[in-house]
Amino acid sequence: MTIVNLSIVIFKDIKELLSNRSDIVITTHQNPDGDALGSMLGLFLFLRKMGHEVSVISPNDYPEFLQWLPGNEFVLDFTRKKKQVTRAIQEAQIIFYLDHNDSKRGGDMKEVLASSQARRIMIDHHPYPQLNVDFSISRTEVSSTAELVYEFMQDLGGAELIDKDIAECLYTGIMTDTGCFSYNSSRMRTFEIASQLLGYSIEKDEIFRKVYDNFSAYRMRLLGYCLNEKMQVFPEFRTAFMSLSLEEQERYNFATGDSEGFVNYPLSIKGVCFTALFIERKDKIKISFRSRGTFAVNTFSEKYFSGGGHTNAAGGESNLSLGETIRKFIDLLPEFAQELNNK
Ligand code: 5GP
Ligand code: MN
Repeated sequence: MTIVNLSIVIFKDIKELLSNRSDIVITTHQNPDGDALGSMLGLFLFLRKMGHEVSVISPNDYPEFLQWLPGNEFVLDFTRKKKQVTRAIQEAQIIFYLDHNDSKRGGDMKEVLASSQARRIMIDHHPYPQLNVDFSISRTEVSSTAELVYEFMQDLGGAELIDKDIAECLYTGIMTDTGCFSYNSSRMRTFEIASQLLGYSIEKDEIFRKVYDNFSAYRMRLLGYCLNEKMQVFPEFRTAFMSLSLEEQERYNFATGDSEGFVNYPLSIKGVCFTALFIERKDKIKISFRSRGTFAVNTFSEKYFSGGGHTNAAGGESNLSLGETIRKFIDLLPEFAQELNNK
């Protein structure tokens, strides 16, 4: 595997690989977010302009607030188009893994991906990459995969191919992964890139509105319900969490992505530095963790909830019942009391 140090090395090998017209697959982690979709579609539009045959594949479906992105109509959802996706993966000469550094996160698609003979290129900003790839562009200090994809396009010498659609996709990735530039965005380069993307006449306020101001009334009421009736606060552990059972989701007409961002709200409580959101799914409990400061939620999640992610934003899962999962979480807190109170 070649590890590419993005800022210095010109991607000679990758350039060579991309110099011939190829069948390319671009994919990402399951439950893709704004960065996953934004970086995939940005790269998809770019590689197509280079003349490649490109399939853009999501392991499963994703929220409506991301479905306005340019190129969205080309995304193949593996759960709905298994045959077509499997064929595309089998025929691909190159597979890009974006915002995705752990085969476990490929969802039901991971076996198909693993069986491919394609050359693999990973572009990602999560710690602890665990994918077996030919080229790894892995940088944890960057805000988002979209930011890395922008650098990648520049280093490929393809700046003139970037257009308004591509810029919208990449800006959306950076915006969503930094909470609108409120975290993971203290590097000057992140703002330089955002500024260069604005140079393509993208409407940043409109992008914000399309992503954040499109709650259904149900979703808004669900948020109110969660905060008012489901939030539990443990001041002694500087922790707060919420949960949603399947029955509660049904009551509020739950759609994919409706609980996106909910986990962040309790972090606005003075003193709280650790939050969790437990969502009951048919086959498991999906968990989101967030923190402020140095409490590493990715390590916590990896150890106790088979997950991972970033220091301040991670996810995990549990095969226990919702009640048992919450019990397990509460029982773990005293162990971390000192760490949480050192913040
Ligand atoms: P979210 O809570 O928004 O689903 O995810 C927060 C962060 O944790 C994202 O960077 C996401 O990629 C990562 N993440 C979410 N769920 C999992 C998981 O089950 N395993 C791992 N390794 N990372 C996850
Ligand atoms: Mn990301």
